[in-house]
Amino acid sequence: MSTENHGTQNGDNSLNVGVGDFRGASLNISHNQRPTFTPEQMNIQRHPSLGGRGLKSERVSAFGVITGLASLVGLYFTLFPLSGKSGSWPPLFMFSFIIAMIAVVTVAVLRRRKFEHFLGAGYYLEMGDQGGLYVSRFMAVCPWCGSNMQLRHVGPKEGPRDDRFICERNPSQHTIDLDPTVLPEIEE
Ligand SMILES: [Zn+2]
Repeated sequence: MSTENHGTQNGDNSLNVGVGDFRGASLNISHNQRPTFTPEQMNIQRHPSLGGRGLKSERVSAFGVITGLASLVGLYFTLFPLSGKSGSWPPLFMFSFIIAMIAVVTVAVLRRRKFEHFLGAGYYLEMGDQGGLYVSRFMAVCPWCGSNMQLRHVGPKEGPRDDRFICERNPSQHTIDLDPTVLPEIEE
């Protein structure tokens, strides 16, 4: 009687192929319990956008500071006009001020991180070894099935987001979180 039911065993001894189920493995680095691959194994490729042209980060910073100051001056004279007639441009100056602040903050972040998600649709801002700013996209080859993978910035709207390579053939299971520090530097 005890030998019945061979065919219906499931669960504990099943083989979990793929990622995400490595409970019990001794390697346990915070939330990241996935296998890791080297850039060579994944064949990571950087695709420069904008023709591969770089912007000098000093110029972007200077642009941000000057535009930011000009926006504040513009905002001031719109709210407190010399002629006594109230202007109607505050939204424009607010907008340009915000753009300027984003430019300054982005450059400051890139100086530390070298790599930052940029706008949408899988574009990334990178800083080269001489301080130039570049826009790149990243592709890789899926180590499980050999399909193309694209680097995307994914996660909950409010929560932390990760830069993750996602397989075109199996986007739900074939995913790899990118550690941007493994990427080769852009030499200028
Ligand atoms: Zn795949």
